[in-house]
Amino acid sequence: MEFRKCAVIGAGTMGAGIAAHMANAGADVVLLDLDGEVAARAVERQVKAGGFMLPGFAERVRTGSTRADMALLADADWIVEAVAERLEIKRALFAEIARFRKPGCVLSSNTSTIPLRDLVEGMDPVLAGDVLIAHFFNPPRQMRLLELVSGPRTDRRTVARLRRFIDVALGKSIVVCNDTPGFIANRIGCFWLAAGLGEALRLGIDVETADAVMGRPFGLPRTGVFGLYDLIGIDLMPGLIRSLQANLPADDAIQAYDAEPALVTSMLERGLTGRKGDGGFYRMGAGRGTRDVLDLSSGAYRDPRPAPVPDAEPRRLMAGTDLEGRYAWAVMSRTLAYAAALVPEIADRPDQVDEAMRLGYGWTHGPFELIDRIGAEWLSGRLAEDGQAVPSLLRAASTGGVYRVAGGAREVLLPGKRGAVHARLGPAEGVIALPALRLARRPVWSNEAASLWDLDDGVGLFAFHTKLNVFTMPLIDAVHRVVAEVPRHFDALVVGNDGPVFSAGADLKAMLALSERNDRAGLEAFLQAGLRAFEALAGAPFPVVGAVGALAVGGGCEFLLHAHRIVAHAEARIGLVEAQVGLLPGWGGVAAWLARHQAAGLDAGAAASATLRAVVQGATWPGAFSAQAAHLLRPDDRIVMNADRLIGDARAATLALRPGFRPPTVPDLNLPSRAVLDRVVDDLAPSLAPHDRVIAGALADVLSGDGRPVSMAELTARVTGCFLDLALTEPTRARMRQMIATGKPLRN
Ligand code: NAD
Repeated sequence: MEFRKCAVIGAGTMGAGIAAHMANAGADVVLLDLDGEVAARAVERQVKAGGFMLPGFAERVRTGSTRADMALLADADWIVEAVAERLEIKRALFAEIARFRKPGCVLSSNTSTIPLRDLVEGMDPVLAGDVLIAHFFNPPRQMRLLELVSGPRTDRRTVARLRRFIDVALGKSIVVCNDTPGFIANRIGCFWLAAGLGEALRLGIDVETADAVMGRPFGLPRTGVFGLYDLIGIDLMPGLIRSLQANLPADDAIQAYDAEPALVTSMLERGLTGRKGDGGFYRMGAGRGTRDVLDLSSGAYRDPRPAPVPDAEPRRLMAGTDLEGRYAWAVMSRTLAYAAALVPEIADRPDQVDEAMRLGYGWTHGPFELIDRIGAEWLSGRLAEDGQAVPSLLRAASTGGVYRVAGGAREVLLPGKRGAVHARLGPAEGVIALPALRLARRPVWSNEAASLWDLDDGVGLFAFHTKLNVFTMPLIDAVHRVVAEVPRHFDALVVGNDGPVFSAGADLKAMLALSERNDRAGLEAFLQAGLRAFEALAGAPFPVVGAVGALAVGGGCEFLLHAHRIVAHAEARIGLVEAQVGLLPGWGGVAAWLARHQAAGLDAGAAASATLRAVVQGATWPGAFSAQAAHLLRPDDRIVMNADRLIGDARAATLALRPGFRPPTVPDLNLPSRAVLDRVVDDLAPSLAPHDRVIAGALADVLSGDGRPVSMAELTARVTGCFLDLALTEPTRARMRQMIATGKPLRN
């Protein structure tokens, strides 16, 4: 790790969050503020707010003050400035840092609005070579976007080094921006918010209708315009918009909107700052469980009106002559035209703008993807009719769209000196994306539930595609088939899926149907088929690496426990949650987890107790580091910070396992006496629902022994018996029904 020692100056909202995330990446961090106490309290707040992936990571952060502790910066490899948004403060701080930093230490600013050229004006050239803007979003752990700005004075090698660290170690998606005010996301996002408010006031649309129009039809977050104002803070928005207006030319479209309309001024006078204050455009209705809505003309709160359901098809909506249609047109035509006119000024390519809006503002589709959905030709025609300027990039997109697929790859329209041309969009080095693979290749094998792909160099990729990747019978068949098929094509296998969910477990609907028919034989056949498939995987003569993105629970987690290595995204939720639906992990999960506890050095009693506790509670571990602390992941399983790199990193892990690979031998397990487990059950009992106590008792039976080592197969056979007994009980059926209907566990 090249940036082992990092430092952050300014322990406010952003600085403290950035410091915590650097600690998540394994760096030693120094966090300074004007007052050392402020920095120390900021770390405590980050622990409570979940900025650290494990609370213990807070020990990696050393705090201090800029008055007394600047010498702590001497061995930092990267220093982040996250102090107040004032040019003179930042420039003075850089001059001070220059006295302490070691040669080659990279300096970045987290500024949202100040151009890099102003930060480095008059700066010593050696220092300026190491200065750039790395703009994190709030909260830094969770928000994937990082806008990166370098300038003509920045050393290219400095940029390349820092990019790699931010991408691989911090896991951020870097969008390279030009050095313009507000960069990409806030430039377009603030325009959209200003237009959303300004046009609502002009047209007289109400708050909830406006947000319904902006939300679902355009694939924007449900907060819409007004809900987002409340979230950011009504008090902060005018400053943000004013700062952009001050830094942008007089003919920029954002100048058409009032940064602080009279309504906003009166709201601020009444302390209505949004969610953090006494309410904003919405406020929780006292004791009624509903939200009051601010009436835009009177400024008084009123009951919400029945939610309008605008046309979900954006073009039809924008073409409509009703109020919703006119509002949709007024805001989105201007926002999309604004975005189209800003390429290449703010970014070289449209896809960078789309990525920034997806990751920074939570839009499902970026502006250019929306333009393609709406139709660039139609949009250009309507803009012209409306008397609005038609950006040249939008005109050029009228023939072939902004994006297209050609020659097995996605292409994007780029503005050029001699007109716009399409250029190929390639993944970054080391990144493997299934959507791109699908365009470029055909699967080696597929059925209705899964497919097998060639990742080159003898590595195959097994991908599931059932709903939430649950294990249906066809998917179980696919596991058998793929284990048999792989040696004909490959000598290593990655199992990784499209989208964030690895697998939500077994097909609960199918199991409930069998249970309701009292079909014990049918349930047993389903259970055995899955078990045999997972065992075949574990015994495969080639390395199998499971790549888990956001979620692997129940049977999905058990599948992973049979892989030879797990590569998990740091934010993945993993766990054996079967107890939530009144069951035990029936596909070898109990034995596998017990074996992992024992391999980690726990004695028979401690290992069985920990397994019992966790399985009965049906917990998921929030993040891969906590799953590793709970021995679900082994020390040699890999935790990946950047979700985009998951499959690429899993592929590298298979290559590392491949030379001389043999499937691991299966250990025998030592089980404690029943008395040891009874103590655990007694200890848990007060916090358990009645049916959980039944499950706990059954599992204590399974996990207790007489001193003789037990094979994993024998332990799993014991689980199978209990599983079938439980599956046919009414309380378990009730749990399954509720989970299917609501996604929430029943505590009966
Ligand atoms: P903040 O007000 O929460 O925190 C700033 C901290 O810097 C304070 O604790 C203050 O005591 C400290 N500070 C001020 N001057 C200092 C100095 N000379 N030396 C040491 N410490 C000093 O601000 P914030 O929201 O964390 O923003 C910090 C920077 O990040 C700003 O440039 C802002 O534009 C940018 N930013 C903010 C957000 C956001 O959502 N808040 C998002 C992206 C970028």
